[in-house]
Amino acid sequence: MKKRVVILGAGVTGLSAAYRLSQSPECEVHVLEKEMEVGGLCRSFNEGEFTLDLGPHKFYSNVPGVTEAMCEVMGEEFLLRDKTQKLFMCGKYFSFPLSLTEMITRFSPLKSIKILFSFGLQAIKTRVSSQPDKTYRDFVVNKFGRALYEQIFQPMARKMFGNPEKLDRRLAEVRISSPGLVAVIKQVLFSKKVDRTVSAPEFHYPRKGFGRIPSRLMEKAKANGVHFHLGVKVTKIEQSQGRVSGVWLSSDTGKTEFISCDQLIYTIPMQAIAELMPDLPAEVRQAARFVKFRHTVVYYFLLKAKSVLPAMWVFYPESRFRFGRLSEMTKFSPEVAPEGYTALMADFTCTGDDPEWSMNDDELGKHLLAQLKPLKLFSEDQIVKCFSKRFKNIYPVYELGYEERVNKLRSLETSFENLYFVGRLGDFNYNNSDQCFDMGFSVANHILERGKWPKNGKRSDQKDLRSIVLWIEL
Ligand SMILES: Cc1cc2nc3c(=O)[nH]c(=O)nc-3n(C[C@H](O)[C@H](O)[C@H](O)COP(=O)(O)OP(=O)(O)OC[C@H]3O[C@@H](n4cnc5c(N)ncnc54)[C@H](O)[C@@H]3O)c2cc1C
Repeated sequence: MKKRVVILGAGVTGLSAAYRLSQSPECEVHVLEKEMEVGGLCRSFNEGEFTLDLGPHKFYSNVPGVTEAMCEVMGEEFLLRDKTQKLFMCGKYFSFPLSLTEMITRFSPLKSIKILFSFGLQAIKTRVSSQPDKTYRDFVVNKFGRALYEQIFQPMARKMFGNPEKLDRRLAEVRISSPGLVAVIKQVLFSKKVDRTVSAPEFHYPRKGFGRIPSRLMEKAKANGVHFHLGVKVTKIEQSQGRVSGVWLSSDTGKTEFISCDQLIYTIPMQAIAELMPDLPAEVRQAARFVKFRHTVVYYFLLKAKSVLPAMWVFYPESRFRFGRLSEMTKFSPEVAPEGYTALMADFTCTGDDPEWSMNDDELGKHLLAQLKPLKLFSEDQIVKCFSKRFKNIYPVYELGYEERVNKLRSLETSFENLYFVGRLGDFNYNNSDQCFDMGFSVANHILERGKWPKNGKRSDQKDLRSIVLWIEL
C-alpha cells in the first residue's frame, strides 16, 4: 500500500516536498493549489514580451547541499550573477552593505560626527549596564547607536515591518547582519580579516525569470507521477483519533471533493487552520486571530530604456519614498525583456489600512511617479505600461508576543501526528526560497523515514537569513 501524502499549496515549499517524495515509489502525492499556476510567491508572469517576478528574487543558500541540489534541478538555465545593491539617502547613492569610510566622507560632517558620537556613547552605555534587548529598536540602538537607528533602521523597518518599538528583537536578529561597529573595528585593527560570508557576493537566477524554479520542480514532480490539483481551494480539514484524515476542496465551478490522506503537509497561511478545522480548542483559535502577516504591493514600470538603476536593487529608507526598494529585472537576466527595454519594480509592504492597498492603479501610479521624479531615473514618455500586483498576507509580523501564539498553533503538530507546518506562511517563518526548498526536502525525508522532522525545533539548517545586511566596512 502506498502512503497518500496531500500537500496544501504549490509554492516552492510544497513543490520541493512533492519532488522529493516523488523520487520514491512509496508515496502517492497530491498537491492542492488555489491558483491556476504553481510557484506561489516565487512565480513569474508574462506581460507582452516581458517576464516579470513578484518582487526581486535571487537564489542564494548557505545550507549545505541546497545550492548543489537546486543547480541540478535547474541545469543550464541557472545563471550565476554578481550581486549589486545600493542605498539611496540624502540625495546620494551609498554602497550596501554600508561602508564606514563612506559614512564619514559622504554624509555631512555634522551627521557623521553625530553618528560616531552616538555610537561611542552607546558602546560605553552597553558596557556599563547591558539591558537585554526586547524590541527591534533595542537591538539596533544597542548595536549601532541611536543616530544610525534613526537615520536608516527605523524608517526602513517602519516601511517593511511596522513600528520597530513593537516588534520582537528576533526580527532584527534574523534580518540584520553585522556584528556591530566594535567587533568590525576590532577585526580590522587586529586581525585584518573581515568575515563577510552572510553578505554573499553572488547568487543564482534562472535566465527566463525566477518562476522557472517552481516550474522545473513541478515538471520533475509531474514526470514522477505527482497529481496536481490547480484552481482548487481547501475548505476543510477532517480529523479522526489524533490524526488528520483528509481535506475537502472546492473549485470555481462549485464542485466539492474529499481527498483522504495518510500525511498532510501544510504550506498555506498558518492562521487559516483555525477556519479549516473549526473544532480546535478555543485557545488555539484565539492565537490564530493574532498571528498576522503584512501585505505587499509591487508596482511595475515597463520602460523603453536600456538601464535605469545604478544597481540590481536600491533601498530607499527615507520616508518621502513610500516604497522601500526599487529593482530592475533586466539586471537579473537580460532575457526577461525585449532588446532595448527594461522593467522597474517598486515594492512595499503595508497593512490593509494603508491607503496604497486600496488605491487603484492610476492613483498609485501618479503617487509613485511624483516620488520618483526627483530621482530622474526615466521620463514619463519612456513608460510603455505600468500596473500593480498585490499580495495579501506575505510578510510574517514578528510583534512582541508572536512566538507564544505561533507556538500554540505549532503545537497542533503534536496533537495530530501526521500534520506538518512547513514554509514561509505555513510555519510563519521569515525565510527565503532556499530555506523553503530545504524544509520541503526535510519533511519529505521524514515521511519517507529517512530523516527527522523537528516538530518543535529548528526546521532548516539555514543560518538565519539576513536580507537587510548592514556591514560597516572600513
Ligand atoms: C517581495 C519579495 C521578495 C523576495 N525575495 C526573495 C529572494 O530574493 N530570494 C529568495 O530566495 N526568496 C525571496 N522571497 C521569499 C520567497 O518568495 C518565499 O520564501 C517563498 O516563495 C515561500 O514559498 P512557500 O511555498 O513557503 O509559500 P508560497 O509561495 O506563499 O506558497 C503557498 C501557496 O499556497 C497557496 N494557497 C494559499 N491558500 C490556499 C488554500 N486555501 N488552498 C489551496 N492553496 C492555497 C498559495 O496560492 C501559494 O501558491 C521574497 C519574497 C517576497 C514577498
